[in-house]
Amino acid sequence: MSRVWEIMTFTVPAYAATSANEPLAPFTVERRDVGPKDVRIDIKYSGICHSDIHTARSEWGPANYPVVVGHEIAGVVAEVGADVTRHKVGDRVGVGCMVDSCRECENCLAGDEQYCRKGNTGTYNSVTADGGTTQGGYAAGIVVTEDFVLSIPEGVELDVAAPLLCAGITTYSPLRHWNAGPGKKVAVVGLGGLGHMAVKIAHAMGAEVTVLSQSLKKQEDGLKLGADHYFATSDPDTFAQLDSSFDLIVNTVSARIDVTAYLRLLKVDGTMVNVGAPEDPLEVNAFALIGGRRSWAGSNIGGIRETQEMLDFCAEHHLGAEIEVIGADQINEAYERVLASDVRYRFVIDASTFA
Ligand SMILES: [Zn+2]
Ligand SMILES: [Zn+2]
Repeated sequence: MSRVWEIMTFTVPAYAATSANEPLAPFTVERRDVGPKDVRIDIKYSGICHSDIHTARSEWGPANYPVVVGHEIAGVVAEVGADVTRHKVGDRVGVGCMVDSCRECENCLAGDEQYCRKGNTGTYNSVTADGGTTQGGYAAGIVVTEDFVLSIPEGVELDVAAPLLCAGITTYSPLRHWNAGPGKKVAVVGLGGLGHMAVKIAHAMGAEVTVLSQSLKKQEDGLKLGADHYFATSDPDTFAQLDSSFDLIVNTVSARIDVTAYLRLLKVDGTMVNVGAPEDPLEVNAFALIGGRRSWAGSNIGGIRETQEMLDFCAEHHLGAEIEVIGADQINEAYERVLASDVRYRFVIDASTFA
């Protein structure tokens, strides 16, 4: 044996990307055996996030192929290690975008593991301490250290809970941080996977919610999801009419937008927060910031403690994602439909179809 230690593993059926330009295909992924602090999860549902597509196609830099993507995982605990205290066999659990972090930097200690100074360990395509790479949720099972496993409370079904682990926390965290609630006017830019959750959550928090979408195509949906108002950004009157009217704008759009025009929709002290990011830098006219003591901010998912808070909040308010459940053999077709914005509002893979 060439190594003094050996990591024992087992395998589960999965789907993987093997190169940037080939479709995802059936794959057998290795998982580590359950260690003392590990939880083995039978995955029931796995959401499809736009980040999965970027990674599978190496659009955010070269991926470590073969890569199993997926970071919106909902399932049931199948086995726990000897020292696990937070979860037990049979519990309904979820895993989001991170599976570990350094746990000792100031940000980890503050519960903001997503901003770990050493970089958090992503659920997929992240290099681990032993030199391997993490493999994500498009699979029948996964092993994760207990501290990065969330509890999915009664009150939210596993299929509609899966997208909460990325789309839910990505929108909940900035809404909470910038105090969306009664008396606050919140605008959500874009009504897609992230945007539809932002509308539901902001409404449940008690804010007055406005959707700013390119057209009025999804207006009926938006109002049903909890929006009070709906405007088309393709109509130039929209920007004149809504001048200086919002406390908070959550921008979920990853494409280039006219940031300055949106900043002018904020009241004095208002904040626009980006959760989507286009590849190229965005431009801003500083006068739009100065003219109203406005802020332009960004936000990345949420810490583990806040993710649990979000799940508890969603359960309490009976909130889940609007989903279309698919089988594993429909993943590639679903990717094309995500890119064409032809999904209302999240694809979720039935993990029994990985078998
Ligand atoms: Zn995601
Ligand atoms: Zn850290």
